Parts: sequence; structure tokens; C-alpha cells
Amino acid sequence: MWDIICLGELFIDLMPHAKVEGKWLYSPSPGGAPGNVAVGLARLGHKALMLSRVGDDAFGRLIVNALQTYGVDVFGIAFSREEKTALSVVTLGEDGDRAFMFYHDHPADLHIDPKTVTHREIVQAKILHIGVLPLSAPQSGAAQRKAMDIADASRLPISCDVNFRPDLWSDRNAMLAAGRFIISRSAIVKVSEEELLALGGTGTLDERVAALWHDKLELFSVSLGAQGAVLYSREGKHTCAAFVVNAIDTTGAGDAYTAAVLSGYLKDGLEQSLEELVKSACAAGALATTKKGAMESLPNSTDIKQLLNQQKPTVSFLPRI
Ligand code: ADP
Repeated sequence: MWDIICLGELFIDLMPHAKVEGKWLYSPSPGGAPGNVAVGLARLGHKALMLSRVGDDAFGRLIVNALQTYGVDVFGIAFSREEKTALSVVTLGEDGDRAFMFYHDHPADLHIDPKTVTHREIVQAKILHIGVLPLSAPQSGAAQRKAMDIADASRLPISCDVNFRPDLWSDRNAMLAAGRFIISRSAIVKVSEEELLALGGTGTLDERVAALWHDKLELFSVSLGAQGAVLYSREGKHTCAAFVVNAIDTTGAGDAYTAAVLSGYLKDGLEQSLEELVKSACAAGALATTKKGAMESLPNSTDIKQLLNQQKPTVSFLPRI
């Protein structure tokens, strides 16, 4: 019934969208990594269901309306009268790199009710996609672990983007442990280089990925921002240089990359050219940096095809020894 179920945080990103007389004007923009991935997949023609919780407030409704407009099923999002919608204020550097100020004091998305995570929905999907943030609180943590257990019992592959946000954790070690935990249960993983280094271990990126590798893993991406990405599989690693674009806001680039990897996996599994897969994913990530906002900037298949026709970045392959 669904290609993907995404579980986790939904945020309002307050984005600086224009400068007037030297001052930034801010506007609310829907975001939250798992929500962005759901929208990214919907834009690529897949059926996505979102499981989350928002405040019964203007920002909660804004997010749910946006997801619905992008074609994501939203009946799995609860509205709470007790908690507010999570909020982050985004600031942008000269190169479009963003920083977040979080307002995340007992927000609705950390109170996802385990009772709302049911076997009936999860088994109707092809992939469960998650991050670490729900594991920072007891209730949303229980909801996420329940979803992961149902997925495992039904042999549904789990996909994760650890998406570390240290400011949202009181205990950095608990965050890192949560990252290692979800990676240990996933078939498809995406981390940034910085996150891979934070996860521990020693040595090169290859050695660190090898230390995290387990039997269930099929695809492990390390995204390198403006340097492109490395996609590890059982056969070896594909390294893709970045597409050259005019990056104005990198919010959502990682989610666009993840959505493109998952889209390729849903269509052709591992019976496809991983060179083409990592190229499409890097194209999606690059395109997401060319517009402001997270969901608004996620590309569709035509956008990706167009960039793939215009630019041919180098992809090198190194087999596993
Ligand atoms: P995250 O948002 O998770 O930190 P990245 O910033 O690494 O992820 O971006 C994901 C992908 O998007 C990268 O692997 C790269 O292919 C593409 N990308 C990101 N920033 C740029 C950029 N400035 N120019 C071109 N491509 C980019």
C-alpha cells in the first residue's frame, strides 16, 4: 500500500527569506528530516505515509497541510493539545550553509504515542525510514522501537539517516549510542562525514564504515556536502563528485539525497547500476541546495534527469578486498 513509512520529527524551520534594509525577514517553512524524506519520495512518484505528532496549533496545521499538498498520507500524524509543534530558527552563512537554533522544549514530536504505531500500517509498506531524534525521549523512543520491531518481524527493510542534532540531546553519548543502534538494525544508511567521525572508531572513512558494517546492510552512504558522496555496498564503494550548482541553502540536501537512494532501491533493488544510483542521489542533493527551504527545494524526477543530462561528474569504483 505504501512504498515508505517515515517516522519521526516534524519541525517548522523559521527561514530567513529576504533582506530588507539590512534585516532578515523570516517565514515559517515545514521541515524535519523524516518528513522531508517522505515529501522527497512523493515528489519522485512514490506513496509515502508519515507517522508523527504535531501541536494542535497554526504551525502543526501548516506542516500537515504542506505534507498533504506534496501528496504524503498524513493520517498517521496526531494533533496534540498538550504540546506545541517543534521549532527551529535557521541562519545562513555566505555559502548557504545553515545553522539551527532549536526551540524544542517538550515538543509534540517527542510524544509520538506508541499506540498509534500499529502492525497494520507498517506491514503494508516496503521500507521504514527513521532517524535518531525520537530515541531522545521515552515516549517517541518507545514508538520508534515498536515500529522497528514490527518492521524486523515482517522482514521490512529499515532505512536510517542518523541526522545528529547534538543541541537536542542532554547526553551526547546517548545520541551516539542511538545512532549506532539504528545503524545496527538498518539495511540502508546515510550519514554525513562529520557524523561518521562522531560515531567513533579510528582510521579512514573506509575503516570506520567497515567497523559499522553488518550482515543486513545493503547500502551505506557517506555524504560529503560540496564534495559529493561515497556509496558503500557489499561489492565495494562508488565515489561520486558533486554536481556544480549555485548553492544558496543546503537545508534538505541530505534528505533529497536519501529520497533518491530510496527511490532507486524501491524501483530496482540492488539489481541496478549503483553508479547511476549515487549519481542520481548526488544530483538530487545538489538541486536541493539551489532553492531555499527543505520541502520546497526537493526535486522531482524531471529535475534530476535534466541535471544528469547537463553534467557528468566522475564516479569511481573500488571493489571490496
Ligand atoms: P546533509 O544535509 O545530510 O549534511 P550533505 O550536505 O552532505 O548532507 O548533502 C547531501 C548531498 O547533496 C551531498 O552528498 C552532495 O551530493 C549534495 N550537495 C550538498 N551540498 C552541495 C553543494 N554545495 N554543491 C553540490 N552538491 C551538494
